[in-house]
Amino acid sequence: MEERTYAMLKPDGVRKQLLDEVIKRFENADLKVSHVKEMVLDEEIVKQHYAHLLDKPFYPTLESFMLSGPVIAMIVEGDNAVSKVRELMGATDSKEALPGTIRGDYGDKTCCTYNIIHGSDSVHNAEVEIHRFYPELTKEKQKIR
Ligand code: UDP
Ligand code: MG
Repeated sequence: MEERTYAMLKPDGVRKQLLDEVIKRFENADLKVSHVKEMVLDEEIVKQHYAHLLDKPFYPTLESFMLSGPVIAMIVEGDNAVSKVRELMGATDSKEALPGTIRGDYGDKTCCTYNIIHGSDSVHNAEVEIHRFYPELTKEKQKIR
C-alpha cells in the first residue's frame, strides 16, 4: 500500500554524516525521500515524541542525547513505507540489529540509546509525527482547503 512515514536521523547519525547513506538505502528499497530538513529540537518536542517513554529510567539519557546536536527530519514515501523503513533500520538495540541494517552497521553497540535513526512504527503514528515535525506542511494543506 502506498504510504508515507516519518524518519529522523538522530544526533549520532548526523555526527557520523550518514544522511547520504540512509537516503541511498531508502532509494534502493524503492522509497522516495520527499522532504529533508535539519532541525535543532527542544525539550518539549522530545517529550512529545517520546511520551511513551517518559517514565523509563533511561528517559533523561535519551532526552539529552536527542538534544545533543541537530537531527535531520525526513518524510519517506512508497509502497509499505512504514514497515520498509523499520526493516531497513533494524532492531532498537544496535547490537541485536542485523548486519546490513542501518543500526546494525552504524549504531553504538551499547544498548540502546545511540542507534542512529528513528522511524514511525505505524501509519497512524507516521501522520502524528509528520504533523509534529513538519507543521508547515499541515498549514499549507489547511490554506488550500
Ligand atoms: N531507548 C533507550 N533505551 C532503551 C530503549 C530505547 O535509550 O532501553 C531509546 C532508543 O534511542 C530508541 C528510543 O528510545 O530508539 C525509542 O524507543 P522505542 O522502544 O520506541 O524503539 P524504536 O521504535 O526507536 O526502535
Ligand atoms: Mg518507537
